[in-house]
Amino acid sequence: MLAFDQARKLILDSVKPLDPITLPLLEALGMVASEPVNAGLDLPPFDNSAMDGYAVRSDECELAGEKPVIATLMAGDTADRELSKGTAVKIMTGAPVPPGFDAVVPFEEVLSEDAGKVFLPAAVKRNQHIRFLGEDIRSGDCIVESGRIIRPAEINILAGSGILSLYVHRKVRVAILSTGDELVEPGSAVPSGKIINSNSPALAAAVLEAGGEPVMLGIAADTRESLAEKIATGLRYDVLVTTAGVSAGEKDLVREMLAEAGVKPLFWKIGLKPGGPTAFGLKGYTPVFSLPGNPVSSMLTFEELVRPALLRMMGHTAVLRPHFKGILAEDVHKKEGKATLLRVKICKEGDTFRISSAGNQQTGIQRTLLHADAVCLLPSEVTLLKKGESVDFHFLHDSAMMMVL
Ligand code: AMP
Ligand code: MG
Repeated sequence: MLAFDQARKLILDSVKPLDPITLPLLEALGMVASEPVNAGLDLPPFDNSAMDGYAVRSDECELAGEKPVIATLMAGDTADRELSKGTAVKIMTGAPVPPGFDAVVPFEEVLSEDAGKVFLPAAVKRNQHIRFLGEDIRSGDCIVESGRIIRPAEINILAGSGILSLYVHRKVRVAILSTGDELVEPGSAVPSGKIINSNSPALAAAVLEAGGEPVMLGIAADTRESLAEKIATGLRYDVLVTTAGVSAGEKDLVREMLAEAGVKPLFWKIGLKPGGPTAFGLKGYTPVFSLPGNPVSSMLTFEELVRPALLRMMGHTAVLRPHFKGILAEDVHKKEGKATLLRVKICKEGDTFRISSAGNQQTGIQRTLLHADAVCLLPSEVTLLKKGESVDFHFLHDSAMMMVL
């Protein structure tokens, strides 16, 4: 049986970033640049004032003294006229500095101001409070490297330097197929013996959160025909994720039908609990994940195995959530031979993270996942971890991390 970390490595080695597409800046938010972007303009595009105040010639201000104020320049005005010597110009932040002027005295430093005259202090330094053409960015400078995530700050600098669109790795389209004769779609009547298909909306939500595009394929019955048809549809997308029908039950046909559809199996079981009956295969370059049906197992295996693969396909280089070390607040018993995902609550005491169980750890209990801030990955070989031992964990969501940190 493949160890959990080997399974994840195999998956990550099997997927590669999707083709680049060009998108308008705002649509590229959160996506990864696939090519470097060079500035199309100098920033700032002209010398301008960094303060509200008076523009002067610094060599005329060695001593404190009075100057006539001959003009006012607002942000947005032009200033290409030569102005007479021995004067000052009232200037607002962002307004162009007139030719020949080389310093700005902020209003706060002006000694007095009256009847078109301003009394300025001594020792005005050349270049003070001026933002010079191109001092931030030069036209042609690389402003966004390939591999960078596009955030509001990147959009600001791209837009400000004349860029309208850029190349990014496109969003991964993930087909989601729930399988099982017991399933009915949310909103329909639930006859006895049936349950609502909650995995499809939950996995779609997880795909959206990872930045991908979910495609709902609905429910396949536990029959060869139904599975064959839905799997054929699912293989038209970038990734196919199925749930259920991969354990040892009599109607667990997913594995067989994927093989018939030409999916080459890479593994069919991993040393992980919950999530043992998780399978992974490839049809050409299309990864196919067969997750267990149990909602907790499908959520956790998505988190640990599918999400990193989707991120890699969208060009991200950091695909795992940050891992931290914490101290167990209680003894934890586990089975030998399987890495175990423990759903936990984290509390921060000084610089130490204290880890306690988020509740009943049986796979069937969904409520524990609701209460969990994080998961601990407990190593396969041990059976007992003692209170006070240090273990690795990662938060399940940025919001959980923000509440705890
Ligand atoms: P299986 O992997 O087919 O043995 O299913 C394991 C458990 O998960 C069973 O109790 C199923 O009823 C349940 N289950 C399977 N698929 C779903 C689904 N789409 N939504 C919610 N529960 C499911
Ligand atoms: Mg089943």
